[in-house]
Amino acid sequence: MKIHIDEDKCTGHGVCEAIREDVFEVGDDGVAHLITEELTENIREDLQDACDQCPTQALRLEG
Ligand code: SF4
Repeated sequence: MKIHIDEDKCTGHGVCEAIREDVFEVGDDGVAHLITEELTENIREDLQDACDQCPTQALRLEG
């Protein structure tokens, strides 16, 4: 399972970070970044929520 962040679409307000602060972090550059590669099945639902709630559809769950 992977998350793709489209940095051109991300507006950096941090909905994703609010959902999983252990996975997403909005950087000083104003866009979200992944802070872990450990995307395990037990957090799939949260990751899907982050994708669904991202207002700019910048997140895509793969796998
Ligand atoms: S919710 Fe979407 S637009 Fe907002 S910081 Fe996260 S990836 Fe960027």
